[in-house]
Amino acid sequence: MDCIFCKIAAGEIPAEKVYEDDHVLAFHDINPQAPLHVVIIPRRHIATINDIGEADTDLMGRLLQAAKAIAAREGVAGDGYRLVVNVNRGGGQVVFHIHMHLMAKRPFGWPAG
Ligand code: IMP
Repeated sequence: MDCIFCKIAAGEIPAEKVYEDDHVLAFHDINPQAPLHVVIIPRRHIATINDIGEADTDLMGRLLQAAKAIAAREGVAGDGYRLVVNVNRGGGQVVFHIHMHLMAKRPFGWPAG
């Protein structure tokens, strides 16, 4: 499958990993939009949030558990951070393998741009 995040999960493309377990992998974004910008992915390929099924509920929760662990490990839990999931092109998604952005160490405005 021609999916860059599947290739990272398979170890075929290098990434600067910050977290991994049997289900989830996280690595530094190659084009960071904040001083800390981590991409959190399920190892299994699912293209978009529109494609998750009932059976993926635990896996989606694991992305949030990973985000919490990374935030604590990186020392940003207290100050705060931004979690973003872009869905389809209109939502800003360019890599069609579900991922959550964890960004921190700069101010974040609301509403998001
Ligand atoms: P999206 O716009 O939500 O799909 O975000 C995709 C993100 O993946 C972007 O922030 C990219 O910079 C990031 N990205 C794309 N390729 C790589 C890579 O090979 N390593 C790390 N991050 C990547």
